[in-house]
Amino acid sequence: MRHLPLSLPLVSLATVLIITACTVVPDTGRKQFNPLSPGEEAQLGLTEFEKMKRDKPVSQNASFNAQVQRVGQRLAQVMPVPNAQWEFVVFEDPTPNAFALPGGKVGVHTGLFQISQNDAGLAAVIGHEVAHVVARHSGERMAQGALTAGVAAVAGEMIRQNSDMDTGGQIATGAALGGAALLHTQRFSRKQELEADQLGALYMARAGYDPRESIELWKRFANWRVQSGNTSNTPAFLSTHPVDEVRISELQNFMPRALAEYRG
Ligand SMILES: [Zn+2]
Repeated sequence: MRHLPLSLPLVSLATVLIITACTVVPDTGRKQFNPLSPGEEAQLGLTEFEKMKRDKPVSQNASFNAQVQRVGQRLAQVMPVPNAQWEFVVFEDPTPNAFALPGGKVGVHTGLFQISQNDAGLAAVIGHEVAHVVARHSGERMAQGALTAGVAAVAGEMIRQNSDMDTGGQIATGAALGGAALLHTQRFSRKQELEADQLGALYMARAGYDPRESIELWKRFANWRVQSGNTSNTPAFLSTHPVDEVRISELQNFMPRALAEYRG
């Protein structure tokens, strides 16, 4: 990351924002710190998604698109994303991957369908990715260094003061945050991954998908990795989502709570 010169008033501003930016994750009740407000995060997500739609080919595959709309709309009813303007887009990309951005923007790669296989499998991936947004893990990651927090707080203040800024201004603000692309390329902590698995299973259950399918999905990912056998060319999703016994057993432990909300 580039080091921006931080003057004293800016550091004080960051301190004020740190004090006022503590929130609670819905359903898990975990307290967290976030330098940006949900509205500011949504604005960054929207800007980044527009850029991706310009840069990346959108798939015309009718069956992939129908499945993503069907599953996405059902999940959207139960996923508490602040300021959501839901949009589900299939991108032409052979790597098995998916992402969600603040503001309710979701992208699924064509390469994911070989592993998601059915509606519940797809719901598991989308639910997991959106859970990272609901729990505001990106902002939390950004906040994990004092300098980073300061930079993010300053960027947040820039957005506040320029709420009518044009797209160019928004992108500049994103760059100040170390790149809005960080929203979908960064690695989350083990704790955040676990929280996203649990929230994703709850969303599946509430949307009428059997949450146990999330365990099957992770097993398929693990098998696919063994079969593809090319560890030096690990696709983004698996490089940021280690599949191991801990992940699967933690999810199994959580199943009773998710199943209690499942009406199949
Ligand atoms: Zn994740």
